[in-house]
Amino acid sequence: EKAKILVISGPSGVGKGTLVAEMRKRVPNTFLSVSATTRNERGQENCGSEYDFLKREDFEDQIEKDKFLEWANIYGDLYGTPKEPIEKALAEKKLAILEIDVQGAEQLRKSLGQNAAYVFIAPPSMDALKERLTGRKTESDKSIEIRLKVARDELKHIDKYDYILLNDDLEKATQNLCEIISKIKKEV
Ligand code: 5GP
Repeated sequence: EKAKILVISGPSGVGKGTLVAEMRKRVPNTFLSVSATTRNERGQENCGSEYDFLKREDFEDQIEKDKFLEWANIYGDLYGTPKEPIEKALAEKKLAILEIDVQGAEQLRKSLGQNAAYVFIAPPSMDALKERLTGRKTESDKSIEIRLKVARDELKHIDKYDYILLNDDLEKATQNLCEIISKIKKEV
């Protein structure tokens, strides 16, 4: 039986976390991967953006020990998907959901190929994304600027994804994501 992995990418601030949380209320038997990161914890980590915060040396140690399914350097910080929980979820026949950046998705396309489905969550516009990043009041101006630049770069990889989902309305986007999942479940 093929692995059931759903890879979700999209710019920081596009609302991936909220969308995935909403979808998980409706789709049974899912597992949401908790990434490890070396970045600092935000004042108030919002829904869906919870991480295992590691010191850089500990993260590097885990890389050495081959503990990550994939990892990437984003804005100078390291982010990675721990392997073991994913293997466990797959053994339990759950749909494993990974919220990772375009570099991580690229690595998985090479290692997992078609055993995973790839979804890109797109913002309605760059202005809307900027508003969201500003509105969540967790980011400095510099950090917002970097995230917008990275978003522009990430959007260049959109055509590598199996599905593109526009997040302009949470309810519509959630329904679309649920439809994508029922399709994937039939395919894999
Ligand atoms: P943030 O710092 O805003 O929470 O996340 C920044 C970026 O890191 C987002 O695009 C998010 O999807 C990505 N990210 C989070 N966890 C991982 C991971 O485990 N691997 C990779 N490659 N990217 C991740």
